[in-house]
Amino acid sequence: MLKFKRIYIDADRPFDDIKNDLTDAGSHEGVVLIGDYLVYREDCMKVVETVKSAGYKRIRIQSTGHKLQEAGFVQELIDAGVFQYEIELSEFHTDVAQVFNNIRMFEGYGQPDFSPYLAARISITKNNFTRIGDVVRMVLQCRTDRITLFFDDYDVKMSDVTPYLSLAIETGLLTQVWIQTENIPLCLMDGYEHHVSEIYMEDEWERKHVAACGKCVYKTSCEGIEVEYTKMHGDGEFKAVLKSGYAKEMVGLRR
Ligand code: SF4
Repeated sequence: MLKFKRIYIDADRPFDDIKNDLTDAGSHEGVVLIGDYLVYREDCMKVVETVKSAGYKRIRIQSTGHKLQEAGFVQELIDAGVFQYEIELSEFHTDVAQVFNNIRMFEGYGQPDFSPYLAARISITKNNFTRIGDVVRMVLQCRTDRITLFFDDYDVKMSDVTPYLSLAIETGLLTQVWIQTENIPLCLMDGYEHHVSEIYMEDEWERKHVAACGKCVYKTSCEGIEVEYTKMHGDGEFKAVLKSGYAKEMVGLRR
């Protein structure tokens, strides 16, 4: 059974269209509702309740989170069935601590195995990549359960970014918070391959294998490089990994 079905919701998507997407609870354990506008829609609670009544056991909200500063609103979402929050942090997101604290207020609420699972998604950008360790340290003060560092700013090259990721990941290990990366291939993550989220879960980036992949020991567990990235930067920075003690461990982990 696949873990989560992704449902994208903007300000204008009709409710019935969202509802029509909720027909496969048997093949998905949960739903992740993605979109900054969801929490501002008048029918937000109705959407969450509809997911719940459609039979999905788990509901995750992925949002920039500003509206989640309102404690009453967070409680309503929890009452409606939301158990997991993934807060997407923008560079201008100044209310991080308040959002996280509001959700943490409800820790242990109601259900025996319930603790609002709180994850942060941080975009690695041209402007922040040299300070990504500091950004992670700041978010760790908010008692998050997991941090995803995702790469989608193609104004900077992946190989320029990766030297700064080790500090961020090590900081997480010291504090026992899982830090994972997204959209950076295994060949650029020497020694930190287990932190590449794509080996564990499906995503929706469109990728392709490049010249180096043919001889790479990770080829069966790596889908290659995002197509748009290769159009901008080519594939010269990716080198086949010819030998790795991790290669066998990486196969078959994805769900
Ligand atoms: S398969 Fe290609 S992109 Fe993936 S790790 Fe190997 S060389 Fe890098």
